[in-house]
Amino acid sequence: MIIAIDGPAGAGKSTIAKQIAKKLTFLYIDTGAMYRALTLKAIEQNLDISDTKRLTQLAANSAIDLINNPDGSLKVLLDGRDVTRLIREPRITKLVSDIAKVKEVRQILVKLQRELGQKNNAVLDGRDIGTVVFPGADKKFYLDAQAKERAKRRYKELLESGQIITLQEVEQDVLNRDRIDSTREFAPLKKADDAVYIDTTNMSIEQVVNEVSKHLK
Ligand code: C5P
Repeated sequence: MIIAIDGPAGAGKSTIAKQIAKKLTFLYIDTGAMYRALTLKAIEQNLDISDTKRLTQLAANSAIDLINNPDGSLKVLLDGRDVTRLIREPRITKLVSDIAKVKEVRQILVKLQRELGQKNNAVLDGRDIGTVVFPGADKKFYLDAQAKERAKRRYKELLESGQIITLQEVEQDVLNRDRIDSTREFAPLKKADDAVYIDTTNMSIEQVVNEVSKHLK
């Protein structure tokens, strides 16, 4: 069984997806973490990100693994190296959408996402899960929230993880990624016609988990 959770940055997708996966003992697949891991590698190799050919080679020659820890958290391995924390740094966040808009890069990562999902009962979160990666998913959700609220949530998360950043910077980043992710040519962020739409702006995490669980019954 496949559960797809899509939506813009800061809508609560990963928090909710993790909790639902843990509850159901499904595999949690954070597809954004894959694009982030690749972005980290591109930065480390000083790659010109407008060079689609090299980016594609990089994607094809990278091993990105997602390990579900027993407590529900996720470990991200890039070529065997633990990059869980590094991929959340603002320098990655700033660049990731420009790398994720490259069609050939998406094709490689989507293949990996499908392979992982087909082998398991899984909850996947991302931007194109219900529309492109698993259009036949058993259940689809689109989590949304007002941009100001999404920026506030991301800001709080970043502060808690020790990053130095202002709320204004986070707001700008969220709006910028919204724009790139929803206007790109390939697999843009959009709600699948058959997805359940949930506006989480005024909801607690528990309320959203309950709402999602209600639809899964
Ligand atoms: O989910 P997260 O915010 O970590 O995703 C980082 C970026 O990866 C997104 O802003 C988007 O550009 C890209 N992404 C994507 N397709 C997905 C998941 C993430 O393009 N399925």
